[in-house]
Amino acid sequence: MPALLPFRLRPWFRTRVWGVHDLAPWYNYTVGEEPIGEVWLSGDHCVVDSGPLAGTPLATVFAGHREDLLGADSMRHVERFPLLMKVLFPQEKLSVQVHPDDAMARLHGEPHGKTECWYALDATPDAKVALGFRAGVTQPEIRTAIEQQTLEALLHWIPVARGDMIFVDAGTVHTIGPGLVLLETQQNSDMTYRLYDYGRPRELHLEESFRAMHMQTQAGKVQPRAQGDSTLLVESPYFRVDRIALHPSAVSQPFPSGGPRAAVQLLFITSGSGTLHAEGCDPIPLRRGELAMVPACTSVWQMEVSEHMEILRATPH
Ligand SMILES: [Zn+2]
Repeated sequence: MPALLPFRLRPWFRTRVWGVHDLAPWYNYTVGEEPIGEVWLSGDHCVVDSGPLAGTPLATVFAGHREDLLGADSMRHVERFPLLMKVLFPQEKLSVQVHPDDAMARLHGEPHGKTECWYALDATPDAKVALGFRAGVTQPEIRTAIEQQTLEALLHWIPVARGDMIFVDAGTVHTIGPGLVLLETQQNSDMTYRLYDYGRPRELHLEESFRAMHMQTQAGKVQPRAQGDSTLLVESPYFRVDRIALHPSAVSQPFPSGGPRAAVQLLFITSGSGTLHAEGCDPIPLRRGELAMVPACTSVWQMEVSEHMEILRATPH
C-alpha cells in the first residue's frame, strides 16, 4: 500500500436547536430551516476532499492506513481515530452536561471517555462558560436545584474572550453560553450525559450524570506559553494544541516541529490562506475554517502562505 499523503477534510454541518442561521465569516454555507450548531472537522464520517482518497470517510482512511496516519501512536488507538475537532456556534445556552472519564466509559463498552478543550475563535463581550460548581456546593444541593430549575445559580461561571483556551477534563459538569464561536478538540467519543436543560423538553440523564461527575477537576482557563516559533495553548494526557502564525512568503516555508516524535497533525486554519505542499502530493489549498491532516509518515512538507495565516494545530497523545 502506498504511503499516505496529507489531505484536507470536508466540514460536516450538523443541525442543533441552539445553533445559528449564519456561519459567516467562517463558512460560506447556506443554512436551511434548522440552525447549524456544530461543524465537525475530523469526525469518522468527514470525507477527504483532496488527492487520491477524495470522497473517503476518515474512519475508512483510519482503518486502512492506521500506522501511516498515527505512527507510534497506532498501538494505542486501534478502535478509532483519537481526536475529534469541531467548531461550535452556540446562539442559545447549551444544556448543562458531563462526559464520563475513561474508566466509566469502558464500563459502558466504549474505548475511552471524553476530555475536551475549547479555543475561543470569537466572543461577544458578555460571553461565558460554566465549569463545575461554586465552592462548597454539595450533590444534595445540586439535586434540589435541578428540581427547582435553579441550577444555573450554583454553577461556576467564567468570562471568555477571543483567544482564550479552556480545558475541560472528563467528569467536569459544564455548559457554554451564547455569543461564542469555539474550536473544540476532544477525545473522539460521543458520550454525553445531560444534567439540566433549563426546563427545555429534551431528555435528562440524571443518574448517569451523578455517576460521571467529579466534584474536583482540573478544568479552567489555560495560560498560553510562547515556545519559539509557536505558542502552546494546552497540553493534556490526550492532546496538545498549539498556535502558529505564518507570514506571507514568496517561497514555501518550513513548518514548526510538532514535537520530538512523529505524530499526526490536525491543522485548522483560523485566518488567512495558503497551500500545503508535500512530495508526491498535489498542492492543497487551505483557507479559514478548513482542516488539513498531515499523517505521521509525512516528514517533509511546507506551507506556502498567501495571506497571513494563523493555524491551530492539534496532536493526539
Ligand atoms: Zn462537552
